[in-house]
Amino acid sequence: MIPDHEMHAEAMLQQIRGHIDNVCDILGTDARVRERLKVSKRVTRALVSLPRGPKEEHYYVIRVRHLNPWATAQQPYGGGLRYHPEVSTPLMEVDAMKMTFKHALVGPEDHQRVPFGGAKGGVAVDPYGLKPQELVLLTQKVVQALGSAIGPRVDRVAPDMGTNERIMDEFMTYYATLNEEKHIPCGAIASGKSPDNSGIRGRLWATAAGMYDVLNFFRGNESTRNYFGDKPTAIIIGAGNVGGWFLRLARKNGISVIGITDVKGTLYRASGGLENEAEAILDCTQSKGSVQEYRGGEHPSVEELLSMPCTLLVPAAKEGMITPAVASRLHARAILEGANNPTTEDAMPVLRDHDVLLIPDILANAGGATVSYFEWRQGIEGVYFTDEEIENSRAAYMIGGARRTVEAAQKYGTDLRMGAMIASIDFIARRLTRKRHWDLY
Ligand code: NAD
Repeated sequence: MIPDHEMHAEAMLQQIRGHIDNVCDILGTDARVRERLKVSKRVTRALVSLPRGPKEEHYYVIRVRHLNPWATAQQPYGGGLRYHPEVSTPLMEVDAMKMTFKHALVGPEDHQRVPFGGAKGGVAVDPYGLKPQELVLLTQKVVQALGSAIGPRVDRVAPDMGTNERIMDEFMTYYATLNEEKHIPCGAIASGKSPDNSGIRGRLWATAAGMYDVLNFFRGNESTRNYFGDKPTAIIIGAGNVGGWFLRLARKNGISVIGITDVKGTLYRASGGLENEAEAILDCTQSKGSVQEYRGGEHPSVEELLSMPCTLLVPAAKEGMITPAVASRLHARAILEGANNPTTEDAMPVLRDHDVLLIPDILANAGGATVSYFEWRQGIEGVYFTDEEIENSRAAYMIGGARRTVEAAQKYGTDLRMGAMIASIDFIARRLTRKRHWDLY
């Protein structure tokens, strides 16, 4: 029997294909390009096993490549590696498409985007149920199982849900061990590595910092300024890499955080200011397992928390959390999608009726993809970015994407979600139609 989460992922895949059709109708895109946009180029599946006590356990490894509008044998595919029990082929296909669209959306100038195709992969496993040594072994087996399907100029990986600096370090180190003496720039196989192990400074907070680049753009933009007011408040769903860093960077960006949730609980303080205690709150999630254990706030149910009045709701956990039921109780003025696919399709009309501004994932969370590109360049070219260059370049890429999104939305009279897809697909389609064997990309 197909599990529920896989059925939902399959439905998401059909929905995104529907969006591609809508965008192609608007743009008058070549019919062949339209069909190509809707399918994945390659799906790699493997099974790996780990000894666990007296038995062995088996885990599916999946890696999907969607499309590479660059494909000059120089620019690889790229995208996250997720360790989560609900990893499935259709979910990875959806996320790989989103990566293609993210890369093609952000960038300071029209010709300057993130020059990667879109990919995504993962392992259907609960990483929190494994010991550190088991995670190391699992990661080594993933590298081995993916074999020639990955490479610094083929397809490179980045951190995502359930993966972190330690796993990215292991991924690169083991890949380098397997490819010794082949003259491959192995440092470029994975981004999100620790700075002491060829990582780039700033990748850790890149996704959240990029969300602020975009948020600040919309706070200053004439067409959207009214949604935010002078003293915006925020509720964050998720306290991992993206949610945790969004909390840490809130004070610097003038946002008062009134609530945060993780998989095990909630924390709420009506007067706000949780950002001033970010380290203590995040330490508590590490040491005691949840924000629920933090003293200095209330702990309503998730449903109650998500119906509290606030300026901004920031989903930064798993997909599909903003359902029509959540949307109808929401008292937020705007949603900034830190997670991939956090808002279900049927929640969109409810949000529209309530005039909630939705800043879509392919724009909002592209800061991680952008700084992964800088990290890849460090590995390939042996150049090193200063902290200032990383911050300024990331912001320039993100603001370029935000500007393009607004321009497309205004030109075609759509919402920002559609605007971002139009801006991205317009660029991809222009590139593909110039190639003779466009179907091979
Ligand atoms: P993470 O594993 O570091 O953290 C995930 C967080 O979500 C944890 O705090 C967990 O407790 C919480 N969570 C999980 N299920 C939940 C639930 N049902 N209710 C409330 N909270 C729940 O993951 P991450 O890297 O922060 O990624 C989060 C999202 O952001 C994912 O959708 C991911 O694809 C997306 N994203 C991540 C990056 C990145 O750079 N890490 C980049 C772009 C997009």
